[in-house]
Amino acid sequence: MDQVKPRVATVWLGGCSGCHMSLLDMDERLIALASRMDLVYGPLLDVKEFPEDVDVTLVEGAVANEDHLAQIRKVRARTTLLAVFGDCAVSGNVTALRNVFDGADSVLTRVYGDGGPGRRAALDPAVPRLLDRVLPVHQVVDVDLFLPGCPPSADLIHYVLSELLDGRSPDLAGRLRFG
Ligand code: SF4
Repeated sequence: MDQVKPRVATVWLGGCSGCHMSLLDMDERLIALASRMDLVYGPLLDVKEFPEDVDVTLVEGAVANEDHLAQIRKVRARTTLLAVFGDCAVSGNVTALRNVFDGADSVLTRVYGDGGPGRRAALDPAVPRLLDRVLPVHQVVDVDLFLPGCPPSADLIHYVLSELLDGRSPDLAGRLRFG
């Protein structure tokens, strides 16, 4: 009988996708990892709804708009071990630079002015509303594992995933750095 494989997901919130590019930088090691897990959700898959009963989720990016807020709450509720990877998810980093301005309206005014098509498009109900402040993930939901780096290296991501798939807690002493 086939062994049940851990269900793994990745999530892309307010980030530049560089952390997912670092994940892809595992190159051929991805093939070996893929045979040991079921990748059930992520920007690399065409799956619309975050599934139930996910064992491990890696989250890139900070919480910057109302969609991110709803998504990360759903992800947390459906995930056993939630890991944030990359400085944006861990601390806000580049995504949170706009926090020096006084809220979402101030940011939109600086970018688009008081009117015009850009400003109207940003306020379209179909576009997720910006939060007044960008938040690191742990300020919204509980986080089990923090993997800083901009981006975290492919080696670190590979090590952590390998350990988790083997049922061990990764020993991160001396392996972590910001930037
Ligand atoms: S941590 Fe760096 S690489 Fe990752 S999403 Fe943020 S800016 Fe991009």
